[in-house]
Formats: sequence, C-alpha cells, structure tokens
Amino acid sequence: AFSHTPAGRNHLFVPGPVNIHENVLRAMQVPGQNHRDPWFADFYKKCLQDLKLIFGTKEGTTIIFPGTGTGGWESALTNTLSPGDKVVTFRYGLFSHLWIDMMQRLGLDVTVIEGRWGDGAYEDRLAEVLRADTEKKIKAVCVVHNETTTGVTSDIPEVRKTLDAANHPALLLVDGVSSIGALDFQFDRWRVDVAVTGSQKALSIPTGLAMVCASDKALQAMKTATSRRVYYDFADMLRTNPTGNVPYTPILPLLYGMEASLKLLAEEGMPNVAARHHRLAEGCRRAVEGWGLQTLCRDPRWKSDSLTVIEVPAGFDSQKVVDVAYAKYNLSLGIGLADVKGKVFRIGHLGNMDELMLSSALCGAEMALVDAGVPVVPGSGVSRAIEYWQQTSKVIPTRE
Ligand code: PLP
Repeated sequence: AFSHTPAGRNHLFVPGPVNIHENVLRAMQVPGQNHRDPWFADFYKKCLQDLKLIFGTKEGTTIIFPGTGTGGWESALTNTLSPGDKVVTFRYGLFSHLWIDMMQRLGLDVTVIEGRWGDGAYEDRLAEVLRADTEKKIKAVCVVHNETTTGVTSDIPEVRKTLDAANHPALLLVDGVSSIGALDFQFDRWRVDVAVTGSQKALSIPTGLAMVCASDKALQAMKTATSRRVYYDFADMLRTNPTGNVPYTPILPLLYGMEASLKLLAEEGMPNVAARHHRLAEGCRRAVEGWGLQTLCRDPRWKSDSLTVIEVPAGFDSQKVVDVAYAKYNLSLGIGLADVKGKVFRIGHLGNMDELMLSSALCGAEMALVDAGVPVVPGSGVSRAIEYWQQTSKVIPTRE
C-alpha cells in the first residue's frame, strides 16, 4: 500500500511548501558544480541583488543562508541584540509563540502582548508598552507579519507608525516567512530593520534557504550586539558577499531555482503578484461564506491573502476533513496547529498559484467537508468562488 502512487497528482495546498513552477523545476536540474569556478561570483551577486525585489528594498542588505525560516529568526535576533535586552512582541499563533520561545532561550527579556488566535498585532497595546518605556530601554519590536497558524496578516505600516508616534528608537524585526513575495511588503518605506523569509513559501522553491534583509540601522546594532552567533553571523556574509563569495558551500540548485522564480515574479510585477494573491484569497473567502462557515480571522483588515484558515462548526473535528481530503482526493490541506488543533483547517494559496489550481482545492475541501459530516451543500462554496473569479480574473498580458 505504501508504494501505490495514484493517477493524477498530489494537490498541494498547505501554506508552504508550495507548488513549484515547471520553469523553476527545470532550472534546478543541474549536475554538481564548483562554486569556486570563476562564473560563481557574478551569479551570486546577481542573486543577492534580484532578491531585493520581494523585500521591496533598494537600501537594505540581502543575505541568503542555507537553512529555513527558523534560522532566519535566529539570525535576526542574534545579530542585533544582546542577552538581557528588552524586546516586545505579540503571541497570536504557533509561529509567534515559537519565535518568543527562541527569544527567551537566547536570554532576551521579552514582553509578550497576548492576543486572540485569529487577531493580529494590537497597535494600541504596543503604544501603551512603548509609552511606558520612558527610558527607551526596549531594543526591538518583533512582529510576525503573516501568522500561518491563523491566517492573519498584521499591519506593519501601522506598527511602524506606532513606533514613530512614540518617538521610539527600537528596531523593527519582522517575520515575513509567509508574506514576503506574496503580499505587499515595503522594507524601505516601512523602515523595517530585519525581515526574514524562507524559500519554500512565496518564493516557491524547495525548503532550504533562509533569506533576510537588514537595514543600515540593524547592521549598526550588529557592531555592539553580543548574542553568541556562529553559522548565522551576518558578519561572515558581509565580509564575503560583496565580492560574490560565500563563507560556506552554497546550495546551487536552490539558487538556480531562486533565480528562475524571481524572474517570474519580476515579469509579473510585485503589485500584480499582490493583486493575484488578493483575488485568490477573496475567491476562497467567498467559498467559505458559501459553505456557511467562518474564517478564524474575523476582522477584515487582518484577513490574510496568503492562506485561509477555516473553522469547522463546534462538535466537528477539522482533522477529519484534512485526513479524508488526503485519503480520497489526494489533496493536502493544512491541519489545525496547537491551540486550534481539530478546530480549523488551512488552505494555502501563496506563491505559484492560479485560479484553476485553487478551484481544485476548493472542490476537494468541499467534498471532504461533506465526507466529514459537516453540513455543507455540494457546490455551495465552489460556485461562489468561480463566480467571483470569472468576473475578476485578468487576461494574461501576453495573450491580450
Ligand atoms: N514563521 C512563519 C510565519 C512560518 O509560517 C514558519 C513555517 O511555517 C516559520 C516561521 C518557520 O519556518 P521554517 O519551518 O522554514 O523554519
């Protein structure tokens, strides 16, 4: 039974890893190569430059670490802060929780603003904490931009305004793991100090790269930050990268994938990428309404365009929906994690995704809801989504 491969394909709709474009798959098919041959330096410098696109930066310094988003978190904290430093952050899902856990294990003095799982960063609560810090002891405000547990996108421009209104010099560290490359992200305009993402999310290549962007202010903070750092030390990258070198062996196939993926995003244009994600998410949200269900996120300003997190009615187990979707329809949906285990399931629609792909997920989820006994009328959600997409989908520019 283990070796049986069904006809068709696995329909992958978790919020990372995501579907990989064929051009990107082909670009990664390479034999072993020597990164010390002369071609590498220009190639790597171009990778670092091209990567600025998804961060929305001209001024920031991009760094690519072999690793995952979690490694990116660690680099953001250890390169800018020292044990005992005061930081403020929010807990509203598993990822914000895990980042807090890391902050505590690194010996930071963490003030946690607790939030409902399904809410975003409360700017008013942050304002209170910053106002009370009359001696400006707080060194960083850390925010998970898109909480992948709950389908919530916090408002980073508002967080920045809150810092500015308090005239507070704290660094702004942002986890953009499930937002950067999918949603609007403006590193320079929002004056983010370190932003972090991972390759298996919106960039739509396999897992294995942590990409970060650091401001000059963050690089200044690095000079006095005493947190212990070795593998994720920015300094080793800053010493080698300007000449197109790396301190250790790069994952070349992933870099080729990154190059191909960034080319696709550049051709589409980041405003169009964000608009596509909004259109996909909006169709998905209409399907949820059609099913008579609710998203875990209630406030429209926080609803994520990267993924949709759907509550099953009380008395039903969302894990059954996920299990039957995989068992019967070869559809991989995201499970409910930690505090919302069994209560929600997640549909990822970030990265390399289009309307017809997402239609398949909505069809599968709708059938699986019926299978799991949730009172949903077949066709009720899909019909709402396709009506919306039929009206809003754009002609592909080269096919007008
Ligand atoms: N932050 C967010 C918002 C995430 O969604 C994830 C993973 O899903 C992470 C951090 C951790 O990233 P990784 O699993 O690549 O280490």
